[in-house]
Amino acid sequence: MKHKPIIIANWKMNKSNSEALYYLETLKQYPKELQKAIIIIAVPFTALSDMHKAISRINTKDIKLISLAAQNMHQEKAGAFTGEVSCKMIKEAGCEYVIIGHSERRQYCNETNDLINKKLKYALDNDIIPILCIGETLEQRNNKNFLKYITVQLKECLAGIKASDARRMIISYEPIWAIGTGKNASPQQAEEMHAFIKNFILQNYTKKIADEIRITYGGSVNENNISLYLHMLDINGVLIGGASLDVETFVRIIGNSTKYNK
Ligand code: PEP
Repeated sequence: MKHKPIIIANWKMNKSNSEALYYLETLKQYPKELQKAIIIIAVPFTALSDMHKAISRINTKDIKLISLAAQNMHQEKAGAFTGEVSCKMIKEAGCEYVIIGHSERRQYCNETNDLINKKLKYALDNDIIPILCIGETLEQRNNKNFLKYITVQLKECLAGIKASDARRMIISYEPIWAIGTGKNASPQQAEEMHAFIKNFILQNYTKKIADEIRITYGGSVNENNISLYLHMLDINGVLIGGASLDVETFVRIIGNSTKYNK
């Protein structure tokens, strides 16, 4: 039997602190929907602390409805890195998760696999669960060399990460051509890649870890297609950008996660 799906909302550079809290006020009115999935919301740094306080009032000792993620962190402990935010800072602000290596950071901030590897290790060493994003460009897919590219991403990002840490991670397969474009990968294309990633984990770690590691799909997921992805064997959840910004839409997405109509 499949576990509860993971639904990650990535707000990117959207929503001020007050807007974030306003969103949560509405979201908390749907506890039944929220229990259908593991809900993780990745908000801007400026909203983390207050969101954490507000989420703590929604979650109970027995039922966790919402978890908080940062969208990035620095790879060093502390120091002269103007404008950066450390792992300790996001942890103290209430994050359980951090998105690492999103394609927008690779593209606009020149993040390399080597840098991402350092961030992953630092997060894992400090008990923050990283959500590692990987994925190919349209050109790589059309040139049919995307499997090689994904293999290099996995090898370099996961280099030196021990099995006991790898099993705690989430890997998000996010084809760049599907992010924010409305051109989602078909559930079959996504499933093929998830199976490929699982096989990489199997080859490089163990079957147990391949079974335990959670792999989510990201790229133009919406209320109409979510259940098609979640129905696939190796897809453990989804990462949603644009469609998570409107709270009513996000609630419908969560609601539809369990409704499978072929
Ligand atoms: C993302 O932010 O990683 C993403 C998948 O965005 P969208 O859902 O808008 O394609």
